[in-house]
Amino acid sequence: MKTKVICPGSFDPVTLGHIDIITRASTMFDHVVVGVLNNLAKTPSFSTEERIELLKKATEGIDNVEVVGFDGLLADYARDNGITAIVKGLRAMSDFEYEFQQALINKKLNPDLETVFLTCNSDYLYLSSSVVKQVASLGGDISSFVPECVHDEILKRLKQK
Ligand code: ADP
Repeated sequence: MKTKVICPGSFDPVTLGHIDIITRASTMFDHVVVGVLNNLAKTPSFSTEERIELLKKATEGIDNVEVVGFDGLLADYARDNGITAIVKGLRAMSDFEYEFQQALINKKLNPDLETVFLTCNSDYLYLSSSVVKQVASLGGDISSFVPECVHDEILKRLKQK
């Protein structure tokens, strides 16, 4: 059976930490869906369309990766789309408690759905979308935080804020 997995997130905006997880997942599974969350609790800095566009550009070279926007329950989206596992990156202990709870809830909602955790690349241990936004808003260099092909676009957009 072909394996189809999902890397869900807000990706507001995409970072090299996200790309590291997506790339590694693409070598482990047949098909990787990058699921961009539409229904965020807080208002994102980038619109769903912008976040999808940036991710598409940043993953252009990877054949088995597809970027989609989605609303609602991840467990339902997975069931409706033949997805058998969620792939997440784990940074530090601070991620663990939340991610562990999410994984248990998703398993309850959809018992066929597994959650797979990939250990974060040590280069990106400190990296998050919030860090990118903070550094950029203070005029700092974000070139080692975001993919080169979308760097200018992200910077320009954050400067408008
Ligand atoms: P964030 O705003 O913290 O970057 P997202 O919701 O956009 O979070 O993240 C989506 C997924 O990417 C999550 O599974 C998260 O654990 C993972 N992730 C985010 N940043 C990193 C990183 N630096 N290294 C590894 N995985 C990461």
